[in-house]
Amino acid sequence: MPRDILEERRKSISLAGGSLDCDKASLAGAVSQRACVYCGARVVLNPITDAFHLVHGPIGCASYTWDIRGSLSAGSELYRQSFSTDLRERDIVFGGEAKLRAGLREIAEIYRPPVIFIYATCVVGVIGDDVEAVAREAEKAYGIRVIVIQSPGFAGHKSLGYRLAGEALMKLLSPQADPASQPQARQPQARQPKVRGLNILGDYNLAGEMWIIKNYYREIGLPVIASFTGDSTCAELRKAPTAALNVVQCAGSMTYLAKRLEEEYGIPWIKASFFGLEDTARALRETVDLLGSAEERSRAEALIARESRRAEAAIKPYLPGLKGKKAAIFVGGGFKAISLIRQFRALGLETVLVGTQTGQKEEYEVMANLASPGTVILDDANPSELEAFMREKGADILVGGVKERPLAYKLGVAFCDHNHERQAPLAGFVGVENFTREIDLTINSPVWSYVQAAGVTLS
Ligand code: SF4
Repeated sequence: MPRDILEERRKSISLAGGSLDCDKASLAGAVSQRACVYCGARVVLNPITDAFHLVHGPIGCASYTWDIRGSLSAGSELYRQSFSTDLRERDIVFGGEAKLRAGLREIAEIYRPPVIFIYATCVVGVIGDDVEAVAREAEKAYGIRVIVIQSPGFAGHKSLGYRLAGEALMKLLSPQADPASQPQARQPQARQPKVRGLNILGDYNLAGEMWIIKNYYREIGLPVIASFTGDSTCAELRKAPTAALNVVQCAGSMTYLAKRLEEEYGIPWIKASFFGLEDTARALRETVDLLGSAEERSRAEALIARESRRAEAAIKPYLPGLKGKKAAIFVGGGFKAISLIRQFRALGLETVLVGTQTGQKEEYEVMANLASPGTVILDDANPSELEAFMREKGADILVGGVKERPLAYKLGVAFCDHNHERQAPLAGFVGVENFTREIDLTINSPVWSYVQAAGVTLS
């Protein structure tokens, strides 16, 4: 292990596939790659296209918006705008409730959205505005559902934000709490009759990925009732309790909600990844085994055979240029990291480093079994750890998100964005083609030899 790794961080790094400390608070003083609580909540809720997202806090928190989480919409564009109460020094001294109240009035008068999400960020957590009371008052006055997410960044880390977003979605689904619902809808929570259909949880329709997955299910003949939350609307989400199955694509952000939907509405759930040929085929087969008829099973097999054949032919020319290259992975959740190890193996690359922001113990065990001996596995890494291990292992490419990109570029290492800034869909069979093309383009680009020859280093 490199000498400059902090002593307290060593338990979160495994070199030989041993056990790993994870799902804990980040170490004070280490600059974690993790996002804050508010960011975790906003990742999940922002793609609801007709919702109004109001950030109650200083303007800086509002910079975390659609521009860096580019999920696509087939309808409303309201979610793409960023709104903030823009708290300043005076508000911090005298309280920000008046500004929040004025903001809610403006939203009700101008936009009249079906729901307003208020994100209370760090400063509000410190000054103690009664955000909940202002929200209840606004609901009564304007007849619009107002849901508060108490998400000061310092209250935990991204995973807590996911749970808070899950609770906010449970509130959205509850007709009793909706001020716009008719009195007859405000009955004790009765189980709604199930229809033969599924909800997709944890796909955010980046570059249209939700549409690709929905098209597969449409071709097979399985109805998708609601999508959490890529290209979703409030009305669609409210139908979710009638579904017979929840298919969880991003397990990190949606496992909590899947468990709550099972508790509250009796909907069973499965984890399914749509990254890579192997995992996409498995996801479709598992869904159809649980919900489909014999005819739908054979339609699924025909789709898998046709699309796999096409994708294999498309990626074949790239394989010689990728063989033997070394990959480093640092992504949000463990389930995606597992799919990426499989995908790299299928392309002939070796994974030499793999880590996540919010992975769980059992996911790290799967990674240890899948990866080659000696692969570095690390939870909640910081930039200097990633740098040290990428150098030590001789990684040719880093797969990550917006926070990992500058690190790779400064090291003169190829980079692939597998987070919310990606431009081409990476999910489904077509995603395998795009992913392979992108990996080839970046890893075999001559630019890295110039950067390395110029001796650009971080330290
Ligand atoms: S850490 Fe606090 S101040 Fe920073 S973005 Fe998150 S909520 Fe806002």
